Amino acid sequence: MARIFHDQDAPLAPLDGRRVAVVGYGNQGRSWALNLRDSGVDVRVGTVADASRRAAEADGFAAHDVADAVRDADVVCLLIPDEVMGEAVVAHVGPALSPGAAVVFASGYAVAFGEVDLPDGVDVTLVAPRMIGVGVRDCYVDGSGFIAFVGVDRDASGNGWPVTLAVARAIGATRRGSVEMTFMQEATIDLFVEQGIAPALQKVWRDAAMVLLEAGIPLEAILAEFYLSGEIERTYRAMREIGPTRQWQLHSQTSQYGTMSRADRYASVDLTAVMRVAVDEITSGAFAKEWAAERSAGYPRMAELRTAEGRDQLMDFEDDVRVKFSPKGS
Ligand code: NDP
Repeated sequence: MARIFHDQDAPLAPLDGRRVAVVGYGNQGRSWALNLRDSGVDVRVGTVADASRRAAEADGFAAHDVADAVRDADVVCLLIPDEVMGEAVVAHVGPALSPGAAVVFASGYAVAFGEVDLPDGVDVTLVAPRMIGVGVRDCYVDGSGFIAFVGVDRDASGNGWPVTLAVARAIGATRRGSVEMTFMQEATIDLFVEQGIAPALQKVWRDAAMVLLEAGIPLEAILAEFYLSGEIERTYRAMREIGPTRQWQLHSQTSQYGTMSRADRYASVDLTAVMRVAVDEITSGAFAKEWAAERSAGYPRMAELRTAEGRDQLMDFEDDVRVKFSPKGS
């Protein structure tokens, strides 16, 4: 059984009198900085571009160059895109770190795939919210909290766990519960959802739309049914609130009978083989290597994939349909 930490397991005391640097003021960075400060923690922000520095200052933080924010900090939260983590650590973070400092990542990626090289003598730890940045703030403010994955990869100070749990607590991640994970486990599940589940769901929805169009159902109605109505979203919310099995009671008998009686038709569709390929590519580091090469080459395949998907036209179309279903309807 995985260990799950709650507020009572995560005192804030290990952060008393300690300086915390939040590096990056984007999706996660802003929410972490605000939550840490509201939890009574001494926070400074490190940024690269002027725009994020101004945003941090507008929120009342002392904002510095990254190296200045990191220097003398006891805890450094690296909240920058995973793909720039390696170069940012080499150029700005690593040389400025004090021995005994803790470096906290919000994702296992850079450490799991060897993209960062941190000096000996610093703790390397993980607090990875299962929540988008804006949700990290909203769920802290409304008191509901969110789930996170937490771990300690290197405990040089001997204090890695108490500090990690205190950071998790201060941002609101131990209210519902933080699950112990290694960096590789976090990176694997995170990437697997994107590479093993999302493409499969995309295929299901595309095939379903095709079959319904063939049956003469208007596209607007299909999109309403699939996501614009919010009905499926409600079902997922009910799964979270009362459980996947108990939520069945919210659906009609017809719906329950139809789903259960047809479930076997899909039993022979075996997705495990392709899903195992996804896991192997992730855990062997093959995906990380491929992605690093793509970045170095200036993202040529990414541009091709976006064009092939027709993303711009799709967005225009979706905007039109969404407007039709807005309260004004035009
Ligand atoms: P963002 O893309 O929102 O981060 C942008 C910030 O990173 C900006 O402040 C930007 O600064 C800074 N930045 C960009 N390049 C550099 C660089 N070379 N050196 C220093 N700073 C840089 O990132 P997220 O908040 O989305 O992600 C941060 C971490 O959180 C990642 O590890 C991610 O995996 C993790 N995470 C993200 C989630 C999400 O929902 N977004 C969910 C859970 C975890 P400037 O504007 O000054 O260029």
